[in-house]
This record gives sequence, structure tokens and C-alpha cells, in this order.
Amino acid sequence: MTDHLAELTGLRAIVTGGASGIGLATARLLAARGAAVAVLDIDPSGASAPLLGLKADVSDDASVRAAVTEAARRLGGLDILVNNAGIGAQGTVEDNPDLQWQRVLDVNVLGMVRTSRAALPHLRGSSHAAIVNTCSIAATAGLPQRALYSASKGAVLSLTLAMAADHVREGIRVNCVNPGTADTPWVGRLLDAADDPEAERAALNARQPMGRLVTADEVAAAIVYLASPAAASVTGTALAVDGGMQGLRLRPA
Ligand code: NAD
Repeated sequence: MTDHLAELTGLRAIVTGGASGIGLATARLLAARGAAVAVLDIDPSGASAPLLGLKADVSDDASVRAAVTEAARRLGGLDILVNNAGIGAQGTVEDNPDLQWQRVLDVNVLGMVRTSRAALPHLRGSSHAAIVNTCSIAATAGLPQRALYSASKGAVLSLTLAMAADHVREGIRVNCVNPGTADTPWVGRLLDAADDPEAERAALNARQPMGRLVTADEVAAAIVYLASPAAASVTGTALAVDGGMQGLRLRPA
């Protein structure tokens, strides 16, 4: 029996936002399993060998097209696209001006559209084609102070389902992962901005059902599963990696 999960040798992957956090953990795991991996990032300096780091801004169509073409040329084709680049925003609808809405939707939603559009012609040449989008539990839960971010991730979830339907007959699978709060540099920056970062981290951990944050490696493992031939019959799904945040209803302590 072939262990499709362990063995990705011969497959070629692009990870956007792959120079930090969840994207970097995913790129490293794909490479550890034998895939050839290109990281597309506005700052690719965090992606070291064997990862191929390419500078690309997902909010710029020409930049995305050039980088995807370059990656597919250097990798010799493309089997896996991980649409992971994203930015955050806090506040209610009254707090974020139009310009901020446009910026976040441009990166978080249109960024995935642009990369997918550039990658699809290459993915059609693969017999194991898969797209995995990094979504969030914010797509399906009503989180306070996250109107803009939640709307962007709700769109990512709908986009994932619609693309899965559009491309299923072409043999291209499309899924997403919904992380809960994951311990990445992004969350580290938010905690560092608090008056008392240690107290803030302790309070954040205490709010999690497992008493701790999700790790980037745990989210990466789910992304790599969905991207791998082990998930050959899985498309149009959202896999939550959230320590039970969404599904559990715990009794108050
Ligand atoms: P991170 O800030 O550690 O990494 C994000 C990476 O994306 C960085 O390398 C950054 O340079 C890159 N990036 C940002 N804008 C870009 C652009 N326009 N073009 C190309 N690259 C760009 O963040 P992370 O926590 O690893 O988040 C990764 C993804 O996971 C995001 O889509 C985020 O919404 C999602 N997510 C994160 C959490 C969490 O708690 N950390 C939870 C749910 C979902």
C-alpha cells in the first residue's frame, strides 16, 4: 500500500505567504515530504533552501502572474497551490473606512482569485491537482470586533466551495482549512501591542477549549493532508483546526 500522506516526492507546490507562520510551516512540511516548493511572499526572506523564495504581492495581478509563471517553470510544472497569504483587521463596521475594506478584501479574497487564475492552467497538467485555501473560523462564527476580517474569510469559504464545483470534473480539488487562533508571528505582533503581553497571552490561552493556542505545524499538517493524494476524494470541504473552538459547547467552569 502506498502511504500518500507521507510521500509527496515528484509533486510541485506553491505556497503564498509562505515566508512566515502557517505558510512557512506548510512549505517546510511539503518539502520534508519530498515536494518541490516555491514560496510567493511580499517578503520571501524567511523562506530558505530547499524552499524557492519568490517575491510577489497577491494584491498585484502582474506580480502574481509573473511569479506563478516563474515558479511553474523552475519547478517543472505545478500540482499544489496553497493560497495562504492574508492580513488582519480589527473593529466593527463603524471602525473600518472603505479604503481599509478594499485593502483587506483585495489581499484576502482577490489575492486568492489572482493566484488561482494564474495557477489553473498549470494545475490542469497535473494528475494530482489540489488547491488549499487558508480560511478561518471567522468565516462561520460571529466574532466580535472582526467585521471586515470575518467578511473576507466568509468570502474565502464561498470561493472555495464554488471553485470546488467548477473544477471537480477537471480533477482539480479545492478545499480550505479553518484555523482557530494560531501561535504565529501575526498573533505575536498583536500580543506585543497589548499593555501587558504576558497577561494577554495567558487570557487568550484561557479562552481556548484546550487551554492553549493551535500551532502553525498543526494547521500545516491539515493543509498538507488536503493537498496530498491521500485526500483524493476530498473536495469542497472546510477542515477546522481550532482546538474545538467552534464545535464544542463547554460548561462554564
Ligand atoms: P503571518 O503574518 O505570520 O504570515 C503571513 C505571510 O503572508 C507573511 O509572510 C507576509 O509577508 C505574507 N503576506 C502578507 N501580505 C501579502 C501579500 N499582499 N502578498 C504576498 N504575501 C503577503 O500570518 P499567519 O498567522 O501565518 O496567517 C497566515 C494565514 O492564516 C492568513 O490567511 C490568516 O488569515 C490565516 N489565519 C491565521 C490565524 C492565526 O491565528 N494566526 C487564524 C486563522 C486564519
